[in-house]
Amino acid sequence: MPGLMSGPLPLRLDPLYLAEQGIRLNGMISLRTMARLCEATQGLAERKAEVELWSTIDPGGICTLYGNYSARLKMVCQRCLGLADIEINGSLDLAMVGSEAEAARIDGEVEIYQLGKDNMFSTREIIEDELLLSLPYIPVHENAADCDAVMLHVLECNRSDEPTRPENNPFAILKNLNCD
Ligand SMILES: [Zn+2]
Repeated sequence: MPGLMSGPLPLRLDPLYLAEQGIRLNGMISLRTMARLCEATQGLAERKAEVELWSTIDPGGICTLYGNYSARLKMVCQRCLGLADIEINGSLDLAMVGSEAEAARIDGEVEIYQLGKDNMFSTREIIEDELLLSLPYIPVHENAADCDAVMLHVLECNRSDEPTRPENNPFAILKNLNCD
């Protein structure tokens, strides 16, 4: 996607139109109105996500939306507990259906998106859902050198206070005495 940055994407899009016209969209989408995403993270490192979208219609008439996206969000690093800018990259693959009957025809493996009454989808809703699914389970600073060195030291000291190592474990000492 680098080099293909362009303007904001439309808020609503018709996937059939994209497929019929062979349109491949590249654009930006604002993250500031994505309340669920802001709640699940410590906020935005960049205010916009970069998104690429296109769709196809298979011989059975099923329309599938494809896309790639990237965003930078702030999350708590699980190594140093400091704030880290986390880059999220992902791709999407959604069967776009207009009705329950159409959804019933889709293979169970595929994720389904129910189009609105206007047969359009909300760009923001889809990208927010995708970003939420792509958040790392254990976020850490991409570059370990960016971790807070003082905090790492404090955390390391606390860790070694726990009786996990045999030499710190009183039961291990008793066991050694018994062996003598
Ligand atoms: Zn860190």
